[in-house]
Amino acid sequence: MTTEQITLVAAIASAIGALAAAVATVILARLTSRYVRLTSNLVEETRATRAPEVVVDLEFVEILPRLMIANRGATPAYDVRIRVVERNVAWKQSKDDSRITDLAPIKRGVSFLPPGRTMRYTVYTIDLQKTLEADAALEFEVSYRDEQRREFRREYSIEFAAFNYMLIEGSQKPHEVVADAIRRAADQLKREPRFMMNPTRACPVCCERILAAARKCRYCLEPVEPLPPKATGEPAA
Ligand SMILES: [Zn+2]
Repeated sequence: MTTEQITLVAAIASAIGALAAAVATVILARLTSRYVRLTSNLVEETRATRAPEVVVDLEFVEILPRLMIANRGATPAYDVRIRVVERNVAWKQSKDDSRITDLAPIKRGVSFLPPGRTMRYTVYTIDLQKTLEADAALEFEVSYRDEQRREFRREYSIEFAAFNYMLIEGSQKPHEVVADAIRRAADQLKREPRFMMNPTRACPVCCERILAAARKCRYCLEPVEPLPPKATGEPAA
């Protein structure tokens, strides 16, 4: 792990901590590992290339699951193929055309997905109660090409057990809440990386957050007393 990745994890842990009152920490830990992967993928892709980045996920609106297919990259994705691997998912008996595996983009693929486009399909036929009780999982194996016909592969895994308590706790869109917190943490990290590494304190004059060891406030430019090292352990939240 590079230092930057470790710092990102620290930032995420801090963001998750802020949510702990609303949702069970154990559950968040399981979701977090998934979003650490997802987020570091996105950060790397955005930084390094203008490649398409196709994300496939299951969202919840209230308790209705929705399949989400999005291109979060900077260029179009071509020939998107999605293979669904399921384990213990309880399907309701109903008309087949709203089963995940029978949805058009899963059956036939998506020939062209422009950057920024998100497609959503309501999946009515998951018996959520039974699925949450079972050790159920859905995996999406995704392949697609960019304009130069280079092939990309992604795998996304959804463990339903991770959603269980979150739904009971009444969180409407559990993994959107977590994803947003992580995005904010990553943004903050990009803007002010040293705040994650060094203890900080409030400037006694203007109350802006400055490094604990500072002798001069970088906001109001007033000289401030340096704190003794033992008094500077205030966490940089
Ligand atoms: Zn100041």
